[in-house]
Amino acid sequence: MTDQVHVFSLPMTTRFRGITEREGLVLQGAGGWGEWSPFLDYDTPEIEPWLRCAEEAAAGDWPAPVRESVPVNATVPAVGPERAHEIVTRSGCATAKVKVADPGQSLADDIARVEAVRDALGPTGHLRIDVNGLWSVDEALASIKVLDRAGGGLEYVEQPCLTVEELADVRRKVDVPIAADESIRRAADPYRVRDLEAADVAVLKVQPLGGVRACLRIAEDIGLPCVVSSALETSVGMAAGIALAAALPELPYACGLGTVSMFTADITATPLLPDGGALPVLPASPAPERLLVDPALQADPGRTDFWRRRLAEVLAYRETLR
Ligand SMILES: [Mg+2]
Repeated sequence: MTDQVHVFSLPMTTRFRGITEREGLVLQGAGGWGEWSPFLDYDTPEIEPWLRCAEEAAAGDWPAPVRESVPVNATVPAVGPERAHEIVTRSGCATAKVKVADPGQSLADDIARVEAVRDALGPTGHLRIDVNGLWSVDEALASIKVLDRAGGGLEYVEQPCLTVEELADVRRKVDVPIAADESIRRAADPYRVRDLEAADVAVLKVQPLGGVRACLRIAEDIGLPCVVSSALETSVGMAAGIALAAALPELPYACGLGTVSMFTADITATPLLPDGGALPVLPASPAPERLLVDPALQADPGRTDFWRRRLAEVLAYRETLR
């Protein structure tokens, strides 16, 4: 398998998770291409499911779609109100996700951003906030109330606190729906969120949860509405997230799959960028044509060695599971 592997390194327009270059590899199978791009701070056991997602894509083994396009949300980072307004207006999306609780900012900054986004969306748009687990329970209770009013009604609050127990506590005390994101990273996590009644919405990412079919099973088992979100994949990997969103029986919320624009370049000839707030559903993952011809998108030899070693370690680890 390692002969059919290509390692990429894409510059990002903004720093995310402390990185400015997104690295990973693509691998070719009998049915197409798959992407394996676990973040660097994840260790071997954790990144094995990520590889299953790539292998499923490369095998061409995705379930049939039940829709032709997938609505996506605009993402508004912790910017000022004017910039926030501009991002939403330009996106063409009917749903916006607003980052709040940035460590360098105050609740007043969040209120101004949320008000500006509501103004840009108009009264029928959907506005959700993402806290990335940064509030205590008390902060969540106070802030959700204020931001729900500022936003003219919130669609949901994503990960208001860090732990599943805190999410459950907040959920019992507020009327705004709660979504679990960081609380769902491993296969067992969604069941814990369900069992503790910690969320109204589950955010699913195909790579950490082991692929499209694995996520479909989880969605069916937990019985919660699901939002599909990216792990900052290139267009090759993004196609897997779109395949999941396209195959879910119900898709009541816009998905977080409009993130390819965070790269300054992409490895496919036609990047999977949303048009009019939606992404098209493809029959298979696109080929990484640009990676194969453009040296600027290929990782340098040292990083290529790193990723090949990382892959070999995961394959060796998998052998120990048999
Ligand atoms: Mg989130």
